Amino acid sequence: MTARLVLLGPPGAGKGTQAARLSDCLGVPAISTGDIFRANVADATELGRRAQRYMDAGEYVPDEVTNAMVRARLAEPDTEQGFLLDGYPRTAEQVRELDAMLDEQGRRLDAVVEITAAADVVIARLLGRAREQGRADDTDVVIRRRLEVYREQTEPLTSLYAERDLLVQVDGIGEVDEVTERIVGALQPLLV
Ligand code: ADP
Repeated sequence: MTARLVLLGPPGAGKGTQAARLSDCLGVPAISTGDIFRANVADATELGRRAQRYMDAGEYVPDEVTNAMVRARLAEPDTEQGFLLDGYPRTAEQVRELDAMLDEQGRRLDAVVEITAAADVVIARLLGRAREQGRADDTDVVIRRRLEVYREQTEPLTSLYAERDLLVQVDGIGEVDEVTERIVGALQPLLV
């Protein structure tokens, strides 16, 4: 069985949490572009230096930077049986680039899971996380900007994937376990 999946959803919908659980469940690596960027910022790499100011402002890192990073990651051998992309693609250009990368490898996506959650819920969750973890981009102003950018640039990707019959929508409100069960249940018929 292969599982080549994309997770979509606004900041605070729970993509990272669910990606880690699904990765265990399905035995494929979770690839979080946000985590890779943050690790590079922490290690003060060239990539981190290029990404940081965008992240701090709640803007997307330029496509050419992000695309090159994902291309390198998807060329790693642990993605052979699949992957779970958390936070990529987020722009129409990234969709085209992902299509090209997979084409070159003779691979296809199995499904795109959209975790849905209303804006007031995700804002409350992110402000809670800010208090616990102190992530640089979890301030009120930056959270609102991240949501706005998501709505403008990433939400339209859901209809694009729906047209390809790949979109699976899952309600992200509820207990973490419950949401995992919903996703696994929705994916089961698709991953045979
Ligand atoms: P969230 O989904 O909560 O905004 P992430 O950890 O996924 O958080 O991403 C943090 C930041 O990393 C984003 O605000 C953006 O600056 C950058 N980033 C992550 N993924 C991408 C991407 N695919 N394209 C451009 N920028 C990205």
